[in-house]
Amino acid sequence: MPVVFFGHGSPTNILEDNVTTKTWARIARSMPRPKAILCISAHWCTNGIEVTAMDTPRTIHDFGRGLPAALFDKEYPAPGNPALAQHVQDLLDPLQVKLDHEWGLDHATWAVLIKAFPKADIPVVQLSMDMRKSSEWHYNIGQKLRQLRDEGVLIIGSGNVVHNLHQMDWSETAKPHAWATRFDNLVKECVIKDQPERLFDLDALGQDGALSVPTLDHFWPLFYVLGARHDDDRATFDPNFIQYKSLSMMTIVLQS
Ligand code: ZN
Repeated sequence: MPVVFFGHGSPTNILEDNVTTKTWARIARSMPRPKAILCISAHWCTNGIEVTAMDTPRTIHDFGRGLPAALFDKEYPAPGNPALAQHVQDLLDPLQVKLDHEWGLDHATWAVLIKAFPKADIPVVQLSMDMRKSSEWHYNIGQKLRQLRDEGVLIIGSGNVVHNLHQMDWSETAKPHAWATRFDNLVKECVIKDQPERLFDLDALGQDGALSVPTLDHFWPLFYVLGARHDDDRATFDPNFIQYKSLSMMTIVLQS
């Protein structure tokens, strides 16, 4: 299986049929049908690690204010996969992973999946990110999950490489901030050259990094994807643009 980082962007994509959502669907069609999907979502940061272990995860409508009411009517009724949750627990041993029965599928996960796999017939499990840990630690977790790819599990990380809501401009034609473009390009270069370690220390990435990644939650899912990379994987970047000045829609597929 490939491993994919999705730039999920605005929840309004859920209601649209646009270049981004069409590309997500095309990515899904281009791969073998996954036996299950393991998603690391920007929207689930915890103390410690948790994995959803229920048979029927609920659809979480974790949207900010002012978004269309129609979003709250959407559901993504994919089944869970308790056996996969336990398998993830084993793979990460001796780290303690809590089996969760309360979370479900937050919108970083289902906003993408409702476009990529609209039938919602593939089991989905979410893995939380321990918010107390370093980027390198998250990368190492990705490495431990890599073998799932050979077992038919699609690993996806859902976040955004550049995600600064305070510097956004909701105009469709707004030109990206120069720092956002530079940071997006830097990440792309590090992925192409397979040099994830250059991205571990955000402080070393200067003002471009500080502005593009004001909080690490939307950046960390990328490290799980890079950790799960095989040596012979090649990267493709599509969509590859910045929306609303400071929201990177870059999606990265790694596949041999
Ligand atoms: Zn988000």
